[in-house]
Amino acid sequence: MSRTFIIAVDGPSGVGKSTVSKLVAKELGYQYVDTGAMYRAFAVGVKEAGIDIKSEEALNAFIDSVKIELTGNGEKVLLNGRDVSKVIREPWAGELTSKVSAISPVREFLVSLQREIGASSEGIVMEGRDIGTVVFPEAEVKIFLTASSEVRAKRRHKEFLGKETEGVGSVGSVEADLNARDERDTKRADSPLKAADDAVIIDTGELDIDGVVHKALDVVRKRKEREG
Ligand code: C5P
Repeated sequence: MSRTFIIAVDGPSGVGKSTVSKLVAKELGYQYVDTGAMYRAFAVGVKEAGIDIKSEEALNAFIDSVKIELTGNGEKVLLNGRDVSKVIREPWAGELTSKVSAISPVREFLVSLQREIGASSEGIVMEGRDIGTVVFPEAEVKIFLTASSEVRAKRRHKEFLGKETEGVGSVGSVEADLNARDERDTKRADSPLKAADDAVIIDTGELDIDGVVHKALDVVRKRKEREG
């Protein structure tokens, strides 16, 4: 079997990674993988099980027993077989996830799962924070999306309202949450959020969705042409 063609899409919260990644995957007929959903499901599992994240022993035991799966071409995430796709999107889950995802054994566990998924398909669009830098540093295409925190907060707020998510505050409070999360994701010691040196950077505040998808597909096309 030929090697999987991997498209890594990284960037901060609310930058449009999911929308863009899903559309790129659909256009190419590739599998879509949302690694944020995996970290979120893990964090929800930790909370439900009442695990003290400071206890290495409890956390390792949880890692050994938990099962996280993505189904429906990445639309659904299952925690021990139960669909948790909705609850993982609540604001408290995002907050908790950015704390839990800074813990190295958690990252090792989920990165190895992500590499397994990557090895099992012909083409994949995987979105996250460390896909181009850590999970697949050899990815064929690396895209890093950026936008100001103001643009991202407005977008996230609208998205929350559209989905009738519980516990949503004002745009200002969404922006403060995003900034706190980005700060933690950027400053953590293990796999911090950053663009790979060879990533193509696209500002999603300057283009509409179609424009961003078009640009990303253009990068893919050029890479495939080079491959011949
Ligand atoms: O992408 P999303 O906002 O759903 O991710 C939630 C959190 O999961 C991020 O704030 C980050 O802390 C963590 N995450 C990560 N590495 C990834 C994907 C997500 O640390 N590859």
